Amino acid sequence: MTGHGRLPVVFPPEPDERLSSWIARLVPIYAMTVPEFLSALGLPGRDIFDLEWRLMEGEGPLVGARTGLSSEALQAMTFRDLMPDARMLIARRHGRRCPACASDIHLKTTALPWVFRCQVHGTDLQDAAGGTLADTLGVEVMATLEAPAKVGASLLEAWSSGEEQNGFGPVEMLALLTALHRRASPPSVTEQPRMPLGARRHYHEFLTAPITRQALPVVVPEYDRVAPVLTKPVLPGLHGLAQGSLLKSFALTVGIGRIAEDPVARAIDVLLAGDTDGQVRVRAALSLWPLSLRRRISARFWRAERDERDRQVAEKAAKRRQSHKYRRVQSHQYRSRIS
Ligand SMILES: [Zn+2]
Repeated sequence: MTGHGRLPVVFPPEPDERLSSWIARLVPIYAMTVPEFLSALGLPGRDIFDLEWRLMEGEGPLVGARTGLSSEALQAMTFRDLMPDARMLIARRHGRRCPACASDIHLKTTALPWVFRCQVHGTDLQDAAGGTLADTLGVEVMATLEAPAKVGASLLEAWSSGEEQNGFGPVEMLALLTALHRRASPPSVTEQPRMPLGARRHYHEFLTAPITRQALPVVVPEYDRVAPVLTKPVLPGLHGLAQGSLLKSFALTVGIGRIAEDPVARAIDVLLAGDTDGQVRVRAALSLWPLSLRRRISARFWRAERDERDRQVAEKAAKRRQSHKYRRVQSHQYRSRIS
């Protein structure tokens, strides 16, 4: 296959197929590596992932002439609709997949971390081990998370295509979700696997190793309950979404949806769950949020803190009354015994 004529064998891409997937399926026919194949297409030295991000001027017609595909059909296999900041979110390796798709076909939408169903088959995506989100979270919990996940996904999609979000979009929300609201602490009793005393001694290091504490489990307690304790933390900001497992990116998408529904209430939840140093870090994350929201958070947090103080004072007073009564009952019994 030298020269510049049409390649003898070319099959068309599948719907929603990404360019790297289509090229990878063509390559074996010509017994070449991907770089060799790109050279033969007239694109020596081009990286396949750069190519599927954006075709440069003239590359569409060049590849079109060799493959018989229209420039439009080639462009449709690239991520040209995503804005530059969103590029880091495109998965290169295929950690998640649709059980109904052929194993060598990789879709553009499946490469995006806020997509949890196959665009072609409508089936739930599976993680690398073949599990679905419903397997991990349970069908009932999944049903309750559907709505916030949808909200989160549509916000992420709007952001990735460069839509104006008035200074409050997924990036600002992820800053809160991945903020360290408490100091790192060892696994709590509920987080620890049940094990006999002997085993506990053996796993002393694991049971006492501090785990990073982020806001995500506060906003999405459903994630907190199922995520393995050692891999519970997610990377900060967009990296958490880019490099997270199916479960992590789903939890973050749900978190974004929940924040979008009531940003002030969710910020207050996180602040109330935080410790003193953590609250400083949460406030730093919230400094990215619009001023109008921050003002409402401050006002409501002040009231929430006051209510919490009042509640504690009332609780203490009730306890004091209780123990006073108890002492009176005891002393009465004592008196009645000696009389
Ligand atoms: Zn599929």
